[in-house]
Amino acid sequence: MNYYSTNQQAPIASLEKAVVKGLAEDRGLYMPERIKPLPASFFDEIEKKSFQEIAYTVADAFFREDVEAEALREIVYDTLSFDCPVVPVTQNIYSLELFHGPTLAFKDVGARFMARLLQYFIRRDTKDHRRVNVLVATSGDTGSAVANGFLGVEGIHVYVLYPKGKVSEIQECQFTTLGQNITAIEVDGVFDDCQRLVKSAFMDEDVNHHLRLTSANSINVARFLPQAFYYFNAYARLKERLTAEQMKHLVMCVPSGNFGNICSALFGRKMGLPFKRFIAANNANDIFYQYLQTGKYNPKASKQTIANAMDVGDPSNFARIYDLHHGNHQEIISYISGATYSDEQIKESMRQCFQDNHYILDPHGACGYRALSEQLQEGETGIFCETAHPAKFKDTVESVIGTTVDIPARLAAFMQGEKQSIPMSKEFPAFKQYLMGE
Ligand SMILES: *Cc1c(COP(=O)(O)O)cnc(C)c1O
Repeated sequence: MNYYSTNQQAPIASLEKAVVKGLAEDRGLYMPERIKPLPASFFDEIEKKSFQEIAYTVADAFFREDVEAEALREIVYDTLSFDCPVVPVTQNIYSLELFHGPTLAFKDVGARFMARLLQYFIRRDTKDHRRVNVLVATSGDTGSAVANGFLGVEGIHVYVLYPKGKVSEIQECQFTTLGQNITAIEVDGVFDDCQRLVKSAFMDEDVNHHLRLTSANSINVARFLPQAFYYFNAYARLKERLTAEQMKHLVMCVPSGNFGNICSALFGRKMGLPFKRFIAANNANDIFYQYLQTGKYNPKASKQTIANAMDVGDPSNFARIYDLHHGNHQEIISYISGATYSDEQIKESMRQCFQDNHYILDPHGACGYRALSEQLQEGETGIFCETAHPAKFKDTVESVIGTTVDIPARLAAFMQGEKQSIPMSKEFPAFKQYLMGE
């Protein structure tokens, strides 16, 4: 299958090129030329299938033309080494828990899949046996998901650049204690400096001659499309519990920042996944919400909130949503609604949900829960993505609900590891010298 750019000014790319390059030459996002619908018979018996079986069917529709069946199966099964269960919270609201992976957030699914697909392409490409180097700048969570997704994957080395003293201790330990093929680089600067160093490295001829480089941005098709897997599985697991009538009125609510997660759910719908409608839940960064109300997309500077993984003022995947609907605002608002919440409202929902249901929400999931509580109509059943484990935001969550949050064993294990990182100046010549010695 070929991939085109949302800006329409770049050549069509193969899957391999789209994965290795990440962004198209015209700075647009890659989109598959076709989205293959799955047969009705698949949905008729979906509840009898396991998460991995369902995911493989979905992956087959996206990637089968470009990846051999047996290899694709292995990539999918290996990616999904953990479950994404659907858990009841109230009588008609369910939580799709996406935090059971290695770094306790949904980005694990896409990062693990991309690492394995990239490895497949490297092995198949017999011309160049040099290792591939992934450079990623992080303000916290992306670095841990990418580092852990690629951990131990042969033929690939990951460099995580992060701003010294600007990420939480929990976040830092998730990419500085891993060793193996992961190198953490502690930059004496802010996140923007890290991002600038990565961009400079990609543009530097000497570095590119010396090292084979690639990025692992969240806009990469290999990180973004596999997120559809857990939406299909959520449908299957709900079908085990609900009546046929209830299944006709499912509302999927996705706490959104860059809109990659919800966009993969919309791809699922295009493939026939029978969710009735969608809600994009935002924190105070309300650009998409405003677009739904007015039809105008006005990016702004991002605002800092307690749901900080959604502090995005110009969501990259808006371009994909727009393209998917050929820019038709009417069509978009016919089945997608929005919500925007202040930090105070987010806290209030965390408190309320814990009081009423004894379910601990993280600040991102809280936006999703609140939007469903406010917008569900008679006869509808809502599912929201719980995008991260509350322990990742321990201090905030504990101060809001007044109870201690247990740290899962796999997170505690990171915190006991020994921190290893390479100190780096924020000036490019120093970073270049380092890379040239690798
Ligand atoms: C990345 C992230 C989000 C936002 O997801 P998008 O795909 O960027 O919309 C929400 N919650 C958490 C915990 C995240 O890490």
